[in-house]
Amino acid sequence: MLKAYKYRIYPTQEQSILLAKSFGCVRWFYNFALNLTSEAYKDTGKGLSRNDIINLLPSLKKEHEWLTEPPSQCLQQVALDLSSAFLNFFEKRAKYPNFKKKGQKQSIRFPQQVKLGGDCLTLPKLGKVYCKVSREHKGKLKSVTVSLTPSGEYHAACLYDDSKDKPATSSQGKAIGVDMGINYYAITSDGTKHGNPKYYRKYEVKLAKTQKQFSRKQKGSKNRNKARIKVASVHNKITRCREDFLHKLSRKLVDENQVIVVENLAVKNMVSQRVGRVSRLEATGEPVRVKNHKLAKSISDAGWGQFCTMLKYKAEWEGKTYIEVDRFFPSSKTCNHCLYQIDNLSLDIRSWQCPKCQTTHDRDINAAINIKDEGLRLLAGGHLATASGERVRPSKGTAFTRRFSVKEESPRQ
Ligand SMILES: [Zn+2]
Repeated sequence: MLKAYKYRIYPTQEQSILLAKSFGCVRWFYNFALNLTSEAYKDTGKGLSRNDIINLLPSLKKEHEWLTEPPSQCLQQVALDLSSAFLNFFEKRAKYPNFKKKGQKQSIRFPQQVKLGGDCLTLPKLGKVYCKVSREHKGKLKSVTVSLTPSGEYHAACLYDDSKDKPATSSQGKAIGVDMGINYYAITSDGTKHGNPKYYRKYEVKLAKTQKQFSRKQKGSKNRNKARIKVASVHNKITRCREDFLHKLSRKLVDENQVIVVENLAVKNMVSQRVGRVSRLEATGEPVRVKNHKLAKSISDAGWGQFCTMLKYKAEWEGKTYIEVDRFFPSSKTCNHCLYQIDNLSLDIRSWQCPKCQTTHDRDINAAINIKDEGLRLLAGGHLATASGERVRPSKGTAFTRRFSVKEESPRQ
């Protein structure tokens, strides 16, 4: 199993200069290759292959001598990054790849000749870099990705292979459904609401203050750069608080359950859709644009995609089952008790009564229960027969099998 450990590193001034040059060269080559690939894609409908991109390097190095300064393997990794960016685009997991910009987080990857011993990380061309080993690592070091945040911190993500296989996945045990909320971060089918850490709210004042100071500084001045680092530090703090919260919550859910079901939300889509609906509902004299902006912020604030990734790999490590259900599945509008489906449920309605069975539902908890049931149904579809030839079905028959008598061979599992 591969596991990544992220440590803070402290390069010397000389090493920082070489790193800065390397970030620049890698970024330049990425943008250069992206531009060529885009043109090839426009002309032929196909991109450039990984080898096509790597083969560009020798002649470019003759043309631009500065390209020979960074470790050459880091430049070759660009081809890998770009082809996976295009693969994600073609398989509709991501948007069309963007050009890399200087102000963003910078990174380079060393695929070989790396070593970590004690508090000393050895990298090609850079030599020994002081590394604060904050967690114990196991296995063989495969690759190292060095990154620089806009606030000026260097990190090394070390990928280790412990040469063990992934544990076999089992679904015997407690199951839980998780729904994403707006007032609360996550709602689970056992009725727990996990608090929404609205970090932007908490740090909004601080962010506004530093941004104001930044905008008042003269362009190109040293003070402006100092102010820029202050703004970036506040952003950095927000990111780390969010990651900490997501790690703790995902760890808790994986530890306490065997099957975890989440709704596969394309957050990108949800930001635009939900915002559209809410702005109509809540237009109370305030300029709509401000409302949209705030809500969109609070959704992307929540980092749902990142949270699902954490749940997924943590579940895999421990042989637990992680299931995503379709995001078009009507989890909020269906009564989990009698399966009656109401036509409309606007976002401002937090609880509703089922017209058929009169049960009163908390909007989010009801949705989480439906997500769990749908996940169990998919799971049952994937394990059709036992050794004795009996069909395995969830004990009571789940909501959707009862209501829609869906086909048992689900194409989704
Ligand atoms: Zn009902």
